This record gives sequence, structure tokens and C-alpha cells, in this order.
Amino acid sequence: MKEMSPLEKVRHSSAHVLAAAVLRLYPDTQLDIGPPTDSGFYYDFDTDVAFTPEVLEEIEAEMKKIIKENQPFERIEVSREEAKKIISDTGQKQYKLGRLNDIPDEETITFYKNGEFHDLCAGAHVSYTKKIKAFKLLHVAGSYHRGNSENKQLQRIYGTAFQSKNELVDHLERIEEAKKRDHRNIGREMGLFHIDEMVGQGLVLWKPNGAIIRQELEKFITSELTKQGYSQVYTPHIGKLDLFRTSGHFPYYQESQYPPILQRESLAELTEDGFSSTNLENKLDRGELDGHLLRPMNCPMHISIYKSEKRSYRDLPIKLAEFGTVYRWEQSGELNGMTRVRGFTQDDAHLFLREDQLQNEIQGCLGLVKLVFSVLGMNEYRVRVSLRDPDSDKYVGDAEGWNKAEAALKEAVRTLDVDYEEELGEAAFYGPKIDFVVKDVIGREWQLGTVQVDYNLPERFDISYVGADNRDHRPVMIHRAPFGSMERFCGLLIEHFAGNFPTWLAPEQVRILPMNDELLSFAEKSAQEFSKHEIRVSIDRQSAKLGAKIRRAENEKIPHMIIIGKREADEGKVSIRSRNNPDLNGICDLEDCIKQIEVEIRTKALPKKRTEDS
Ligand SMILES: [Zn+2]
Ligand SMILES: [Zn+2]
Repeated sequence: MKEMSPLEKVRHSSAHVLAAAVLRLYPDTQLDIGPPTDSGFYYDFDTDVAFTPEVLEEIEAEMKKIIKENQPFERIEVSREEAKKIISDTGQKQYKLGRLNDIPDEETITFYKNGEFHDLCAGAHVSYTKKIKAFKLLHVAGSYHRGNSENKQLQRIYGTAFQSKNELVDHLERIEEAKKRDHRNIGREMGLFHIDEMVGQGLVLWKPNGAIIRQELEKFITSELTKQGYSQVYTPHIGKLDLFRTSGHFPYYQESQYPPILQRESLAELTEDGFSSTNLENKLDRGELDGHLLRPMNCPMHISIYKSEKRSYRDLPIKLAEFGTVYRWEQSGELNGMTRVRGFTQDDAHLFLREDQLQNEIQGCLGLVKLVFSVLGMNEYRVRVSLRDPDSDKYVGDAEGWNKAEAALKEAVRTLDVDYEEELGEAAFYGPKIDFVVKDVIGREWQLGTVQVDYNLPERFDISYVGADNRDHRPVMIHRAPFGSMERFCGLLIEHFAGNFPTWLAPEQVRILPMNDELLSFAEKSAQEFSKHEIRVSIDRQSAKLGAKIRRAENEKIPHMIIIGKREADEGKVSIRSRNNPDLNGICDLEDCIKQIEVEIRTKALPKKRTEDS
């Protein structure tokens, strides 16, 4: 087992104290397990008592008592028989016996004791309970025993702990800030997206405002791709099973895909044979049965386009790009708004290259990812070179191709001028990759852009080009997606900007607020001028006081408000109130105002003042 850091020890010890407190208050509770997590700890309990916020407070108070008692954590080494006896003496047979059975025979069995509380545990802990200086219980969630939905659902209490009070306070503030920025709430308020149970879990409906953001992002990336010599293609969302058998996606990654779609004839035939589901699966696995698959990746389609013509070394590089929608099966418990979904659109592309072009093209891809991040003000990120785990058998292809691909990526990343780390076992099944892990404004990390080098799919699909020597050669492929997925990326952007998008992305860029109904016709004329310049504009026609109109526009996070009063209208002027660019504020000619906002949009300027009022 990996050794626990001092912080993990504090967190894990807090879990013991939590369980001890629960047992003091509710002695009939059955305990399962309580490991530390990335941001705190949890413990799973089986009890009829509902852990409401009030109950959590009681438990917290009891934990504080236990901490004050300054109980030592004692390690007790026992035989399997003694372990069973302790478990039964403490009345914890229901889950702990099973957990005991998980411990292999050759391993030492230990309990840890603090005060009257014993827990089956390998360690490690702080020396005394008083070493827990700052903790907080956060929330309760249902969790199935061993993560299996056929087992009983337990109550999981989440908490966090830190080595100092200040760190805890900072963390709790970040949690609050994250709640405020939650893309699911902002997405609803701003009319960006909707997820409908009738349509299906994890399938995102982009509403008109969200669609605008997505289109702007797609336009942005497309214009960069054109500069870099990419060609756009469109391909279908489903393809024959044989295609994905060739690529290796089927049957090996079945658990992360929607099940295959079978033809009516095949189903009828199977029904006549009185088939069982095992027998169906075997037939599918062996390739004796045809059907279609919702594509889990776009690559096989793009490879088929490459293969549709004879290619010469002079044609390369060929770069095929598509906003390609793919489908992956995620457990329903894993789904989350736009950031964990079952259907998503990658800003995907596949580059088909000669080996001598590889280095240059990897760098082009990395440059594109960097450009995207800088335009969106995501200046903090780290880079991970994800390599294969040489001891695993989940990868396709031979060592030679892998070695070349890994060497090429490592060489390219050295030119990037950022810190990077190498991680074994994180590669895709067909090749190594470079991943960008971005930090958002509140310090959370998101894995976004990826660039992958692949010697394997060209081999599996047997693609080639004719070289200068007039012989067939195998091209190398790059798979890359700067945003990763449009859904996830938009979810992140919503939280990153807390809904206060830069003007070029804002669904509504300008709102015109006439002071009264008489000014409506001037407001309309002004709106037409904005529209002519392709600025997204609307008029607040409600007969409300100006103050109310301003508040509404502010709540809806409109970047620019144009206020029209009588005096301004008479002089053909407008008054600007801007949240994205306070330098614009004041009275100016309509024409001037349009020009300045146009510049802001064209240069994709970031909001000058960040979101302290959100
Ligand atoms: Zn422990
Ligand atoms: Zn691909």
C-alpha cells in the first residue's frame, strides 16, 4: 500500500473519529469503510437514522468531544480468529466480516483502537485525536455497498480535514464559490442547456443561448484550422460493428459503450433459434453476427475517408477535422450536467503524416491547444505525457511503434516551455498522448486538450501512401482535440467565467434599455444598427423603471447595456453601462459605441473586471 501523507493521515483519522462518534450516538449502526479522498474523507454507514443536517451537527459535536479526549490511536495486530472475535464482540459483523475476508492470507491483520472504538484497518493514523485540528462534515450521499447497485444503499458522510484552521476556511470558501459557479444552475438560469429524462440521462440538449456559445467556439477553432491546412468532413454517428472490430473498440471496450444495434433479420433469426443473451454476446464477440455501433470515437470514420483514395507522399499531411459526436456509456452515478455525459461532440481531427512530418505537426497541435487556452484566459495549466504501462496487456500494437510515438511526444513537449510530468498507464489503447490539465479560477483542475500519436490504427486498417520510391509506406496518425469535448468545455467555461462570458461568447451582447415607451422607436433604430454589425442585441420593452431594467440585465449577465434617455435620443447619442469593459462607460455617439464593441468582439477581449458582483 502507498504510504499516507501527513494530511491523509489527518483525514483518515478523522474518519475513525467520525465512526466512533456515530456509534456513540447511534450504537445500532453498522459500519462499512472510511478511506481518505483527494479532498477529505468519508465513512459509509448502515442505519435507519436519517443523517439530516441537524444530525450531522450532533455528530460533529460528538467528534469534537472525542478529539478533546485526546485518545491515542493504538495499533493491534491480530490473527484471523481474533479479528473475527473483535468484529463480533463490537457487533459489526454485517460488513466488517466481508472486509476481513478481503484481506489475503499472507497479509498482517490489524485493528486500530481509539478510546472504546475499534476499526479493522491497515493504517496509518495520527498519534492522538488532538492532532486533528481542523475538520468539517460536509454532506451525505447514498452509496451502494461495494459500489454495486444490487447491494444495500448505505449513507455516506463526507467530510474534510486540514492541518490548519486557515486551510480549512480557504477550502470551505472555495466550495461555496464552486456552488455559486455550478454550471448546472447557471446553465438553467441563462437558458444554455437542458437535460431531459425523457431524452435520456447524460444527453445534452443545447438551448438557443448555449448553441450560440458553441457556435462561436466552433467558428473560432474552424478559422484556426483553416489557417493550419485542415479540411472539414462530416461522418455518421453510427457504423458497422466490423469497423469497430478492426479499430479494436469492439468487443474490448464494450463496458464503456452503448450496446450494439442489431438488424431486424438477425434478431428474428436468433429468436427462432431460442437464443440466450450469453449466446448472443458470444456471437457478437466472435464476429458471427453483424450490427451497428453508436460510435465511441470518430477515428475509424476518418481513416475510411483517408482510405477512399490512393494517397501519394506529396499529398501528406492530410488533416481531417470534424466536430464529431460520440457516445460512451457512463454509469448514471457518474453523470454530471455537461461535464460527465453519455453523448458528446469532440472538436476532433486526425492527421495522416509521413514520419518526417510528425515532429512539426505535433508542435502545430500543441500550439493550437495553447492558443485556445490563452484566448480564454486559462493561463494556469500543466502538461502530462501519458505513456503505456509496459506490464499491461490493454494496449494494441508492437513495442517499436510505441517507442517511436512516445519519443516523438516527449521531444515535442520539451519545446513547449511548460512543466510536464510523465505518467505510466495513462495512454490510450492505441497510442501515447499529451494531456493538458487546466486550473480554473478557483483552483480546480480539468483535463482538457489532448494530442495523441498513433502507429497502431494505420496498421490495423492497413492504410498507406505511395512514397518517392514508388513503394507503399505506412503513414503515422495524430489524434487531437483542443477543447476535448464541446459539452465538457462549455461546462468548464460557464464555471470559469461564472456566466460572465467575454463579449464574443455572450449569447446576448448588448441590451438596449429605453427610459420610457416614447423612446422605443429610437431604441429600435439603434438595435437595427447593432444587428447590421452582427452584434447580438435585444431591447427591454417592459414598462419598468430603469433601475429594475438594469438589475435584470445584470442578473442575466449581459456584457453591455445601452441606456436611452430623451436627451441622448435627441442628440443621436447613447449612454453605455458595461460590465465587461468599464472603460466604455459614459455617453457617446451610437456609431462610436458600435465600433468599440465590435473591436472587443473581434479581438475576443476578456472581461476587464472579473465577477466580484456575481
Ligand atoms: Zn484507519
Ligand atoms: Zn481519434
